[in-house]
Amino acid sequence: MITELKIIRVPIQTPTILPHTTTNCYLVGNEEECMLVDAGYDVPETKQLLEKAIAENKLAVPKYIVLTHSHPDHAPGVRQLMHWSPIVYCHQKEKQATLDAISPWTKLAFLNDGDSLTIGNEEITILHAPGHTSGQLNLYIPSLKVLLAGDNIVAEGTSWIGPPDGDMGDYLKTLTRLKQRDLKKIGPGHGVWVENPYEHIEFVMNRRLHRENQIKSLLEKHKQLTAENLTRMIYLELPHPSVFEFAKRTTEAHLVKLIKEGTVILEDTLYSLI
Ligand SMILES: [Zn+2]
Repeated sequence: MITELKIIRVPIQTPTILPHTTTNCYLVGNEEECMLVDAGYDVPETKQLLEKAIAENKLAVPKYIVLTHSHPDHAPGVRQLMHWSPIVYCHQKEKQATLDAISPWTKLAFLNDGDSLTIGNEEITILHAPGHTSGQLNLYIPSLKVLLAGDNIVAEGTSWIGPPDGDMGDYLKTLTRLKQRDLKKIGPGHGVWVENPYEHIEFVMNRRLHRENQIKSLLEKHKQLTAENLTRMIYLELPHPSVFEFAKRTTEAHLVKLIKEGTVILEDTLYSLI
């Protein structure tokens, strides 16, 4: 008898960005076959927590590890899981960054938009969903109507999007595309399950459009501003000073989008409206 797929969220302590303190790894499978989505940080707890969850939920040892992206809170945990002899997948665009993050592991396989991986007789759909990074992979599990969204979606607040790897234009297109799926819930890169997927995606899109409008009206008022000036004016309340750099990079991602659209120009370090 084939049992239906389970998706188990395993949060792992990582040096990520506040307000989050953990990164989610997801086990997808049953007692016959299993895969892991994201591998967390390179500490022994990663292996302990994942193997505990595998045993408790009666899952097979994962045969695949899919890395949604190469960031240090998502990929290096592969080093703790080499004894599974998994096939490790990422998107070709993040090949080098992923190799750097998981070395000495050197065997990588690649997934692209529209590919699928079969687990427990079910086809899991792979989506290339650039935005947070250029090679971001998201996964859709049709029978459960679940989207594993990597860092395109986080449970609390919004993801940071920073150039050169992050692209705000791509991000908004990706969110529009993700919203078209039949969704029951979203497994975010950080934080608890998102049970109101459409509302949450709307919230993120509205936040981004709101920030874009704020940037335009601040530039209208002050004529010329640096990305740092703009960030200080926009982000009046940050959960912690360490978040400022990520807020600034998100402001820069908005500015890059506005430059590409022909609304803003950059001279030296000063941005202004055209
Ligand atoms: Zn992350």
